[in-house]
Amino acid sequence: MRRVVILAGGVGGSRFTLGVREALRRGDEDFALTVIANTGDDLWLSGVRLQPDVDSLLYALAGQNDTVRGWGRAGDTERVNAELQAWGAGWPWFTLGDLDLGTHLARTGWLREGATVSDVVARLNTRWDLGARILPMTDAEVDTRVHLQDGGDLHFQEWWTRHRAALVPTRFENPGIDRARPAEGVLDALAAATDILIAPSNPVVSLGPILAVPGIADALRAADAPVVGVSPIIDGSVVRGMADVCLPTIGVETAADAVARHYAARSAAGILDAWLLAEEDVALAPAVAAAGIDAHVIPLWMSDLDASAALGAAALAVSDEQGRPGV
Ligand code: GDP
Ligand code: CA
Repeated sequence: MRRVVILAGGVGGSRFTLGVREALRRGDEDFALTVIANTGDDLWLSGVRLQPDVDSLLYALAGQNDTVRGWGRAGDTERVNAELQAWGAGWPWFTLGDLDLGTHLARTGWLREGATVSDVVARLNTRWDLGARILPMTDAEVDTRVHLQDGGDLHFQEWWTRHRAALVPTRFENPGIDRARPAEGVLDALAAATDILIAPSNPVVSLGPILAVPGIADALRAADAPVVGVSPIIDGSVVRGMADVCLPTIGVETAADAVARHYAARSAAGILDAWLLAEEDVALAPAVAAAGIDAHVIPLWMSDLDASAALGAAALAVSDEQGRPGV
């Protein structure tokens, strides 16, 4: 049994996860796929708890996502949202679809009844046949705050959705994360994994919070499985999203080799054994190798399911080459 664990954010994380699931399905091995999701994007709005990255993964794996818009549920309507706006409730620039609100209401109800975040996500996992299991990174509420030059700070979702990341951040913070614990099953999944894959998600606001939960980075370092990462940066730019605005706040250049050095080699107290770079970045491969990380140059554009599946297969092949346990 191949036990694959992916660390992922929302949209980039979903595309990659769908690709890995497809590659595993096309292969001839039994597999169990676990996705450890960022919950730094979570927030309270109009009385309900939102989990944007968990839901992006959930809807994508379930085939329920709106592929045209890029977020939310396919075929959703916005009647409740219109009412909320008429009341002046919520955020006028943040749309909540009706079907999506059903998920938020269910989640909030369970939380109010005393369920943990792990319990809630476990229930979300059961409705559709996902071919994967989503785990939140932690049960603690550690919502990402964005600190600005003027000294103010705001929730990540407000900075991202309302301001389109145009306000220059000085720092991202997940208050209380140093006291957070990995969610149920996270450390066990990493310890039992045959392959650990770092999705090409935002290194600062998607993978940053996951790796900041005490115990998770240590578990990656201690794991028997190889850890293979995929660059979210191709040819010096982000494919989708705004990682280029986030990376400078942690002193990392928007370049595939710089992100690899940021994660660092497991042999140098980091988390990576291997790193996948785009063909456009072939010149950066030696810099990655010099940091003690195996560099592999392959196409990284996840333009459709076949392209994502090819990337997933390549990541698994690199993991094989690294000598995954059980082979
Ligand atoms: P979010 O939580 O919805 O912001 O999504 P993630 O953090 O999971 O992923 C966002 C990142 O995915 C972006 O910063 C991009 O750099 C990266 N990304 C998106 N599409 C692609 C792609 O086709 N190939 C690669 N290599 N990276 C991508
Ligand atoms: Ca996100």
